[in-house]
Order: sequence, then C-alpha cells, then structure tokens
Amino acid sequence: MQKVGLFWFNHDLRMDDNAALLRAAAEVDKLICLYCVDSTSAGPGWQQPAKLSTRRREFLFESLEDLDSQLSRYGQKLIVRTQSPLEAIAQLITVHNVSHLYSSNHVGSHEKRIWSTLSKRYSMLQFTQSHTHTLFDPSQLPFSIEQLPESFSKFRRLVEKMDLDAVIAPPLNAPVNLPPPALVADMAWQPVWQEQFPSNPNAQSPALFKGGASAGEEHLRGYFAKDLASSYKQTRNGLDGMDYSTKFSPWLANGTLSPRRIVQQLKEYEARAGANDSTYWIFFELLWREYFQWYGHRHQKRLYGFSGITDSAPNTSFYPERFKKWCAGNTPYPIINACMKQLNVTGYLSNRGRQLVASCFVHELGLDWRHGAGYMERQLVDYDVASNWGNWQYLAGVGADPRGHRRFDLQKQAQIYDPKNQFVQRWAGEQTLLPLDSVDAADWPI
Ligand SMILES: Cc1cc2nc3c(=O)[nH]c(=O)nc-3n(C[C@H](O)[C@H](O)[C@H](O)COP(=O)(O)OP(=O)(O)OC[C@H]3O[C@@H](n4cnc5c(N)ncnc54)[C@H](O)[C@@H]3O)c2cc1C
Repeated sequence: MQKVGLFWFNHDLRMDDNAALLRAAAEVDKLICLYCVDSTSAGPGWQQPAKLSTRRREFLFESLEDLDSQLSRYGQKLIVRTQSPLEAIAQLITVHNVSHLYSSNHVGSHEKRIWSTLSKRYSMLQFTQSHTHTLFDPSQLPFSIEQLPESFSKFRRLVEKMDLDAVIAPPLNAPVNLPPPALVADMAWQPVWQEQFPSNPNAQSPALFKGGASAGEEHLRGYFAKDLASSYKQTRNGLDGMDYSTKFSPWLANGTLSPRRIVQQLKEYEARAGANDSTYWIFFELLWREYFQWYGHRHQKRLYGFSGITDSAPNTSFYPERFKKWCAGNTPYPIINACMKQLNVTGYLSNRGRQLVASCFVHELGLDWRHGAGYMERQLVDYDVASNWGNWQYLAGVGADPRGHRRFDLQKQAQIYDPKNQFVQRWAGEQTLLPLDSVDAADWPI
C-alpha cells in the first residue's frame, strides 16, 4: 500500500532547513504540498487576504509563487486552497487516502487548534511536526516551556550559559528529492488571486521587500557581503533606510528564511571580518525574537488578552476618533505621524518607530493596546504573531517588562533620533497635526 503524505505549509514557506519536509521526503511515496488562504467568513479575520494591507498581501503572494517555483524543480506543485485548513485537509485526506501529515510547529493558537483537531479526528494517521521557526527545539532549552523565565534578561542569561555553538544545530539542507505529487491537477490559484487582489497601481513607492525564499537568501547574502554587521549596534535605532538594521524580519516572519541559516551566516561573517559588540548584538536581537516565540508558546491565548500575562487590566479604553487619527498619522505628534505614514506606505516600520507609536497609542491616546496590535498585524509585511503581540504587551505594561511601565517622551525621542527633523519632513509628519479629540459644541449640555 502506497504511503501518501500531506505537507501543510504555513509559516515555513521554504525548502531550506525544513525538518518536517525532509521527513516527508524520506517517508512517503506521494506527497501533497498544501497552503491555505483562509478567506472564509468563518475564518479568523487575520487570515483573510482581503483584510491585509496590499504590501503584506503582495509579499505573501510572491512568497507562495517562489515556493511553487522551487517545488516545480522537484516535479512538485503547491496546491493553494481558499478554504480553512481544517476543511481543505479533511477533504484531501478522504479523497487521496492520506496516511501521513506534516507541518511546522507554530506558535499561533489558531494553527495549534487545527493541528490538535486533526490529530484527534484522524488518530489512525501519522502526524509529524518540527520546530522550524526558532533557533532551538524546546528539548534543548534549559527549562520547560511552562517555566519560561518571566523576563528576557533571565531567559538570555540561562540560554547563554549553554554551549550555543553545539546547541544551535547547523541548518539542514533542502531535500535532494521529493516524492511525486499525489494530486496532479488543481485549480491554478495565481490568476484567481490576482483577479481578487490586484496589485496596487497607485502605490506611492516601490515595495521595499520582495517575498520568497530566493529573495530572502539573496538579501541575507547581500547583507553579510557588506560590512554593515560590524556597526549594527551603533546604527540599529535608525528610522529610515535599508542599512541601519538587518531587515531580516519580513522573511523570518513567514518562514522564507530560517533563523538558523542567519546564525550560520553571522558566524561565517564573524570568522571572516571579526566579531565585535555589533555582530553579537544581531544575535542578541535574534534571542529577543526567540524569547517571544517561547513566550507565545507558553502563554497561548493570554497573548491577546487585555490584561496580558498580568492580573490587572490597563486603564485604557477605545476612542474611535483617536484610533482613526493614529492609524492615518493625524495625531498632535509629528514623529508619530511620520512613523504611521511610513508604515502605511511601506508595510515596514523601524523598531524605534514601533516603540514610539505603541507608547503613544497606550500612554498619550489612552487606547486599548489590542487595537494597535491588530492594526500592525494587518499592515506589517513582517507580521509575526509572537513578536507583535509580545512586544505590544511589553509596551502596554501587561507583558514581560519587569519595569511594568514604559512611556517614551516623544519630544525627547524625536530630538535624539531625528535631530534635523529630516524623517518627520520626509514623511510629512507636520502636515496633518490634529488635536486629539474634536469637540462638537452640540454635544455639550446647555
Ligand atoms: C510594537 C512592536 C511590534 C512589533 N511587531 C513585530 C512583528 O510583527 N514582527 C517582527 O518580526 N518583529 C516585530 N517587532 C520587533 C522589531 O521591531 C522588528 O523585528 C524589527 O524592527 C525588524 O527589523 P529588522 O529585521 O531590521 O531588525 P534588526 O534590528 O536587524 O534585528 C534582527 C532581528 O532580530 C529580531 N528582533 C529585533 N528586535 C526584536 C524585538 N523587539 N522583538 C522580537 N524580535 C526582534 C527580528 O527577527 C529581526 O529581524 C515589533 C516591535 C514592537 C515594539
């Protein structure tokens, strides 16, 4: 009897360093490679392409196209279904007698729920998941996930006590071969996608990032071919431009780039150009990412809760007018307006910019942080569930910040990071200064 495998691609849109895909290559006779665009009204909003910014949607589309083209070199093809994964996988299991199911283990609670439902419903099948989104496997961490330290500093100290060269496994190469497809014909998804979601001809500027593992690998090689890494620590708080930080995040987020491949390239760079504080700091930031991943695995639904991982709700609410002004970059704060306009046009915002707009959202505008996190989720090309919601919680004082409160002085920050006002001018941050709340005299009691 033939073994038929189904690989559910999700946030691991690559052939490189994909342990579950290698298992599939070794174990089954035929393979279905599936990606689901959950555009059903019953599906969660954040998975529906129509709800995503054009930048984020285009980046995803390019990533899927690139994956499809890589698979075609193996005689394989990517099946893209506009259905919930639960529905699509259930149908394919029945129609094609699937015996083995594979995917990467992801922190998202939606993905976890689907996998758990499938493994209960089809307990006679073989289920395989691997951690491809992180540097470590949970078994390598010096604590259980339930005992994840409550602060990043404690996490880092424990992790750095390990022999990291030995613990962070070298990235796995792409499979040599893949089994042939079990499903020969399926609808061509690209024309449907392009018809439903035409690219934006009025985009104010070309995309900063091209989606797909090929573009991600090229960016990685290009970054380390220059000497930017040697001064990263001094430049990383920049607000505008491609070179002040690594810009690995878009490809890391949808798994077109492996974090272990980055660490391997970083080590090679250090061997060639010398290690210093800056090269270490790139690793340090990747540890932040790592921390938020395990934080998400540990806290699951609490990642999205108003009180976060604490027991007290913030003293904030929802004011539609303020929210709208923040999203559009029409607040009384020029630096915030510039950041929000940059985000809306490019789908990317610097780390410093994200900290400022989140601090403003919570502390100046008194808004419920979850709406800010939700807005970034739709806009960011590098949206990553754990990094986004974990950082927002941190800034809102309901997360992993031991200080419990982080409010940025926006004027002071602008003086430090935009001393010549160039960033604000470039993004027209002063053009649309509006008061926080409009007051309609008719609303006042006589
Ligand atoms: C409110 C807020 C929301 C955020 N949302 C996201 C998100 O959705 N996706 C995302 O990838 N990052 C998010 N970040 C973290 C950080 O801003 C971005 O990872 C970083 O700006 C990406 O640019 P870069 O690749 O050039 O980063 P670099 O400065 O070059 O850092 C290298 C890598 O380290 C990781 N990293 C750096 N800083 C952080 C951090 N604070 N938390 C987690 N990982 C980090 C990223 O993977 C990044 O690619 C958020 C931060 C804040 C304050």
